[in-house]
Amino acid sequence: MASKPSSSSQEEFYVEEDFIYGAESGWVEARTSCEHLGSLSSDLSHIPPPDTSCSRCDKPNENWLCLCCKDVLCSRFVNKHMLEHYQQRNHCLALSYSDLSVWCFSCDSYLDAQVIFQLRPVYEIAYILKFGEAPPFRTISNAHPDNEAAGSSSSN
Ligand SMILES: [Zn+2]
Ligand SMILES: [Zn+2]
Ligand SMILES: [Zn+2]
Repeated sequence: MASKPSSSSQEEFYVEEDFIYGAESGWVEARTSCEHLGSLSSDLSHIPPPDTSCSRCDKPNENWLCLCCKDVLCSRFVNKHMLEHYQQRNHCLALSYSDLSVWCFSCDSYLDAQVIFQLRPVYEIAYILKFGEAPPFRTISNAHPDNEAAGSSSSN
């Protein structure tokens, strides 16, 4: 692999300042699907603890966990190493150790880690590492409707 002829200078790629559109304008809708989940690491049961420093600049907080290779990299508000990582390696899935949100750079959107079942295990592990207890998963809409409001005529 790695046969891509890349230009030798690493510093010439252009980082757009407002790469995360709308992220600062309050609530942004989290997607409940993503085409890039195939690039998730095959072993997300062991992840670095949430206080891990950025592997490149050693910043201790505001870091992201790359869900493709489990590298810990700082946010675009620090030295943009997670963004760089995405641009260089095309690892688009990252979990924030600040608020445990999952971002897909390719979708340019947050992902709902409680709905997307591939993301739930790593979200849960990160939550336990950060807070010391399992996350309170909200009820998913495809659960059994256990109120008998709909007149289920079981006489058949
Ligand atoms: Zn960094
Ligand atoms: Zn990565
Ligand atoms: Zn995606």
